[in-house]
Amino acid sequence: MALEFFNTLSRRAEVFTPLDLEGRTVRMYTCGPTVYNHAHIGNFRAYLFEDLLQRHLEARGYHVLRVMNLTDVDDKTIRDSRKAGRPLADFTQVYKQAFFEDIATLRIRPALHYPAATEDRYIQRMIQMIAQLENQGAAYKAEDGSVYFRLSHFPRYGQLAHLNLEDLRPSGRIRNDEYEKESVGDFALWKAWDENDGDVAWDSPWGRGRPGWHIECSAMATELLGPELDIHCGGVDNIFPHHEAEIAQSECCTGRTFVRYWLHCAHLMVDGQKMSKSLGNFYTLRDLTGRGYTGREVRYALITVNYRLPCNFTLAGLDAARTALARLDQWTARLTEYAGNTAPEPTPLSAASDRFLDLLDDDLNISAALGCLFDLVRDSNKAMDSGALSRGQAASLLQAWTRINQVLAFEPYAQEIPAEIAALVEQRAKARASKDWALSDQLRDKIHALGWSLKDTKDGQKLMPAQ
Ligand code: AMP
Ligand code: ZN
Repeated sequence: MALEFFNTLSRRAEVFTPLDLEGRTVRMYTCGPTVYNHAHIGNFRAYLFEDLLQRHLEARGYHVLRVMNLTDVDDKTIRDSRKAGRPLADFTQVYKQAFFEDIATLRIRPALHYPAATEDRYIQRMIQMIAQLENQGAAYKAEDGSVYFRLSHFPRYGQLAHLNLEDLRPSGRIRNDEYEKESVGDFALWKAWDENDGDVAWDSPWGRGRPGWHIECSAMATELLGPELDIHCGGVDNIFPHHEAEIAQSECCTGRTFVRYWLHCAHLMVDGQKMSKSLGNFYTLRDLTGRGYTGREVRYALITVNYRLPCNFTLAGLDAARTALARLDQWTARLTEYAGNTAPEPTPLSAASDRFLDLLDDDLNISAALGCLFDLVRDSNKAMDSGALSRGQAASLLQAWTRINQVLAFEPYAQEIPAEIAALVEQRAKARASKDWALSDQLRDKIHALGWSLKDTKDGQKLMPAQ
């Protein structure tokens, strides 16, 4: 089947064709973290879905230009930096750094750009866009000194979220004089400085102030990727009002269709509720690595449920991820040993990598794709048990695995080996070099006791987590 994605805008699956069909370049924008705290693993579910999307597009021969913004100025970053008594830039820097460490732990492929809203280039672009909107009559300065987008100027507002604009108009029960804005649905483009902002402010044609959150993304996306994007992603909570506002601002400024495919992932849930900072029901990645889980185990647990379905998070789910990964590790280790240095020889079993990618073509149907992978593991293990698999066929299955793993990134990493174990392996290598077999055996037992299995091969010691 052709590559298809469910487009939030049309509410149906659509065949994917990027604007640059010939060059196979895909322009993709993904809303990033607000850097006032450590991101929680609900946020990382969204970023991992985007990583799976990017990797699958790459497996299909596309060149993905991905941008992820960092929201480093908004109500929350200002509030918490003041609470901490630190300048905004210093305060957010800590969480930017932590974010980059976390995405590396989760093996999320880095974006091409991580623009931060406070960078001068983007502040200037935001001001320029707001001025343009004001000139067109799509924005107005209210009595409080802030500038608002005039919803009535953009009749398509509400299309992405499938909302009726009338529902957003002030009803009889709301006293208009309680609002500075012309209509309660209008949203802020530029917020006039107030004392809660402390020293966070930029000069603008409307006086000192700071940008609204929505214009930040429109400015950074169009500045770096141009007026038309192929794909824009986020969690479902971003659909309204954030992405709706991005469409209105961007399309009024550029006169072009802002985004062709809108993809949104469902929430990571805890006991039936969205995992969120405000509910306090969250884990950070660091909470989980502190409990001994590795980045790839968290990656596995968060990626295995299809992105449009809610995923319930439990520690038992992480244990299941550990078991599944150990099964894959054992399978690849066995294939490697079985294949030796033999040249690959075709086998019908290696068609599984084509099937795996075909299943992902169907709106990233990862659960079916993993089902296909584990069928391959079972069938090829059986074939090795009975001797029905040739050494060359095992080598060909390893090639199929490499192809699949480019999308999954599930292979064990050397750096995930705890320092204590690595030191023991190193000591054992020395013991073996000096033919101290007694010490070598002692060290191997110690490594086993700590939950790792060790095999001596002609290429040296092969370490793996024990089952
Ligand atoms: P925020 O830092 O709140 O702006 O969120 C950053 C990204 O994480 C956005 O794309 C959100 O939609 C997404 N997100 C937040 N909470 C969750 C959750 N529980 N499950 C999945 N995605 C989430
Ligand atoms: Zn955004």
